Amino acid sequence: MKTDVQIAQETALEPIAAIAQSLGIDETEYEPYGHDKAKLSLGLLDRLAGRPDGKLVLVTAINPTPAGEGKTTTNVGLAMALNRTGRKAITTLREPSMGPCFGVKGGAAGGGYAQVLPMEDINLHFTGDMHAIGAAHNLLAALIDNSIHQGNPLNIDPQRVELRRVVDMNDRALRQIVVGLGRRVDGVPRQSGYDITVASEIMAVLCLATGFDDLKARLGRIIPAYTYDQEPVTVERLGATGAMALLLKDAIKPNLVQTTENTPALIHGGPFANIAHGCNSVLATRMGLKLADYTITEAGFGADLGAEKFLDIVCPSAGFAPDAVVLVATIRALKFNGGVAKQDLDAENLTALEEGMANLEQHLDNIAKYGVPVVVALNAFPADTAAETALVRERCAELGVRAVTSTVFADGGAGGVELAEAVAELCEQPSEFAPIYDSESSLRGKIEIIAREIYRADGVEYAPEARRQLERLSAQGFDDLPVCIAKTQYSFSDDAALLGAPRGFTISLRELSVRAGAGFVVGLAGDIMTMPGLPKRPAALGMDIDPDGRITGLS
Ligand code: ADP
Ligand code: MG
Repeated sequence: MKTDVQIAQETALEPIAAIAQSLGIDETEYEPYGHDKAKLSLGLLDRLAGRPDGKLVLVTAINPTPAGEGKTTTNVGLAMALNRTGRKAITTLREPSMGPCFGVKGGAAGGGYAQVLPMEDINLHFTGDMHAIGAAHNLLAALIDNSIHQGNPLNIDPQRVELRRVVDMNDRALRQIVVGLGRRVDGVPRQSGYDITVASEIMAVLCLATGFDDLKARLGRIIPAYTYDQEPVTVERLGATGAMALLLKDAIKPNLVQTTENTPALIHGGPFANIAHGCNSVLATRMGLKLADYTITEAGFGADLGAEKFLDIVCPSAGFAPDAVVLVATIRALKFNGGVAKQDLDAENLTALEEGMANLEQHLDNIAKYGVPVVVALNAFPADTAAETALVRERCAELGVRAVTSTVFADGGAGGVELAEAVAELCEQPSEFAPIYDSESSLRGKIEIIAREIYRADGVEYAPEARRQLERLSAQGFDDLPVCIAKTQYSFSDDAALLGAPRGFTISLRELSVRAGAGFVVGLAGDIMTMPGLPKRPAALGMDIDPDGRITGLS
């Protein structure tokens, strides 16, 4: 089969004006960025305010193998298949982070015949949103260090500046740095570090903002540092809100592109799915709901991380109520969850598959707790055997859930027709969506519910520091916020080695911190990397571009 970039280069794109027109978007409501990308103006939402919302479908997955299980590919393929079957669908996705493209993960624009295009742009600089977010973040960092240097009028404790700097590159050498070295005029020395841009709270803020005013209000509430008396110092107090919002004036507008079958796609915002909420922007999803009959969105990593956050953080905050959930599973990830090593995943193994089904089962059970109907999309890989596929379908049928094979990677929208029909049917069923916890319960109560109901832990253990932080956050009035647990994506537990459906474990919370702008409290369970590194042989070493601009090695 051809590589992703070959398929992308052979696909004829429609002019972006034609895609906008197909959605009924007026010429004054979008700004073209070249021939095949455009930014949509927020005024569009005002014009369409009276229009009823279409159906909202969330694509999530079982606990993944290190390669990812094909959520984006399935999302894109499903939107194409819905269109093929005469329905009006739009896909909304996160913007890929550029750094990981050069490492192990590669791009994040789908795969095979189910991609969003132009993938070369989407995976790299795209419309510059990521750079703008990095600039807004680093402006804030510069203003803080400058304030400390210029007499420190806000009494900021240099040891309590929580904001690090960001760059969109996997660069482990920047994890720990010392700033302010040199002479007196070079600033006040203190230890700091870099995170990857998608880990920035500014990214989470941009993705949860419902408009420009809300963006500014959220930016102003961010707490990047504390005083010597442990009082929060907000962005508003630093006077940085206006300048940061200014840098985000274009980044806040959703980006319109198209799929390999010219289905409209909104790609906007890309927060990390562990320390942040891992979903595309609320604005893009809102636009999708107004512009199409079906909006297909995605939440990062497995359903214990991304879907939980979409359902408990994003939906209540944005007022969304999903109509259906697509749980993506692959036979190789089920076998991985059944204990098969990464290099042996291609061999048939019904015993391990059966074992790994426990993982799928727990995710299905969890989604049922939210009251939203669900279908399993079995993303087909060449090594899957007929016996393995039959086993998954049988087990799902026993659980009363449909499992539909999807071949959108190999066949495009044609490979997702059965899935599209199943999803359309689900969307007609009553959805009684409700988050798993009340916003009124305490932070401790919310953490307990997630740990017991979703992860199936026996309880939560707090490190002494986490216990102190919990008390402080409650005292500061943050008890009403939802919680965003940061933990490994490989396991329901906080131990990456516990695959399948582990029992008899506890969750250890190391640290709690508030993201007052985003509007959630992050609880760190285990070691979470906010600045990835590159592998021994980075994907970058296999990339090239010829004098005609033809790219190779990007996937
Ligand atoms: P996720 O969104 O879950 O991280 P992606 O859709 O990005 O997953 O897919 C992960 C990787 O696997 C991509 O490189 C994609 O091209 C590849 N992939 C996805 N589905 C298939 C498939 N059915 N066959 C082969 N490769 C696939
Ligand atoms: Mg993805």
